[in-house]
This record gives sequence, C-alpha cells and structure tokens, in this order.
Amino acid sequence: SASSSKPAGDDDSKAPLPKGVVLDKDGKPCRTCTSVASWRALTKQADLKSTNPSSTSSSTSNTSKMTTSTPTLAAAATPSPSEIPSNCPPDVEELGRSTWTLLHSMAATYPEKANMDHQANMSGFLKFFAKLYPCWVCADDFQAWMAHPSGQNQPKLESRKEFGWWMCEAHNEVNRKLGKKEFDCRLWEERWRTGWKD
Ligand code: FAD
Repeated sequence: SASSSKPAGDDDSKAPLPKGVVLDKDGKPCRTCTSVASWRALTKQADLKSTNPSSTSSSTSNTSKMTTSTPTLAAAATPSPSEIPSNCPPDVEELGRSTWTLLHSMAATYPEKANMDHQANMSGFLKFFAKLYPCWVCADDFQAWMAHPSGQNQPKLESRKEFGWWMCEAHNEVNRKLGKKEFDCRLWEERWRTGWKD
C-alpha cells in the first residue's frame, strides 16, 4: 500500500524528521497527510535547527514519504496530543473526521433504492474523490483498496443499506491500518442517520 510501501525509518536521509511526518511528492512536508502533533514536532525541530544549526543536517535529499526521529532528536520530536485551533488549516485527522462526516452523511441520505443514474453519479464521485483526496498517501491506499483485484471492495450502490455498510467497511479498513478499533457496522445507521436508540 502507498503508506506502508516505505515504512517509517526506511529512508536514507541524513536528518530524519519527526515520527509521523509525511512528505509530499515534491519532498516537502505534507500538512494534510500529517497530524498536528507531528507537525508541531517538526516546527520545533526547525526552531532548534535555526538556533543551533549543527544539531541536525539537511533533509532536502529525503525522498521517502514516511519519516522517523533519531534518538538524538527524540526530545524535540516527540509529538504530544493536541487540538488545532478551529481557524487553522486541517491536519490529517481533522480533515479525516470532516470527510468521514461527509461520506457517511452521503450514505445516510442515499435513496433506499437507487436508480441507475444515482448509482452512476455516486460511482463517479467516489472514483474522483479517491483520486483527489487532499492527503495523497490516504488517497493512494483508498484507491488501492477499492481496486482490489477480487472486486470485493467495489462500492455497493444499489441501496442505502448496502452503500452505508460499504462505507462503514471502507472506514474500518482505514481504522485497521491506523491501529484503531473497528466500528460495528450494524450500528452505522444509528451513528449517521437515525441517532442512537434510547
Ligand atoms: P474518525 O476515524 O475520523 O471517525 C469519525 C467518527 O466516525 C468516529 O468518532 C466514529 O463515531 C465514526 N466511525 C468510526 N469508524 C466508523 C466506521 N467504520 N463506520 C462508520 N462510522 C465510523 N489518516 C491517516 O493518518 N492515514 C491514512 O492513510 C488515512 N486515510 C484516510 C482515508 C480516507 C478516505 C479518509 C476519509 C480519512 C483517512 N485518514 C487517514 C483519516 C482517519 O481515517 C481519521 O479520520 C483520523 O485519524 C481521525 O480519527 P478519529 O479517531 O477522530 O475518528
């Protein structure tokens, strides 16, 4: 998969970046692919570097997507959980939460039985969404998951129930990848459409 093809620490850079920092295809750190905690560790590292230029070496030759910290940088590079102010650009988590809200809400408002036109529109949307999602490593993995050769992960678009379940499975795929707890897909409608039963 895209984000696991080059695991953390598997690059040959001289100055590894903090754990969790993902680089864009141009080699610069990708904000929408990186958590705010890792981003802060990165800016802290840059601050340290500017006050003590010999503390790290250049990272411009780094061509890997995933990076990691060295023991000497650990103090500066350890990400701490934090919230982003609401008027700041999103990190990978904020972007993800907002996007899942959109995607599950699209499933929640999908027709109980969708006609061919509606199915085609949603199919097109998902295809382009998977190409254009602003976290490129997320997008690459999502596309690869959808295009699994077995065909088993292709969007199920005939009905709201099928589509909502499919979306839940897609989300669980990412949850598994990130080591998060899987969501019980029998509850997707309560979470995203009807509200919880009392
Ligand atoms: P989220 O995972 O954002 O979930 C939001 C809410 O949805 C949860 O609180 C829960 O109530 C509900 N929920 C959880 N699971 C399910 C489910 N299976 N079905 C229905 N509802 C559910 N982040 C990365 O770091 N790397 C990636 O490669 C990556 N890929 C992504 C790909 C896509 C297509 C998207 C949309 C996001 C991706 N993300 C990725 C972001 C990641 O999925 C999370 O959104 C982010 O880590 C924040 O997680 P969270 O724990 O706040 O809850």
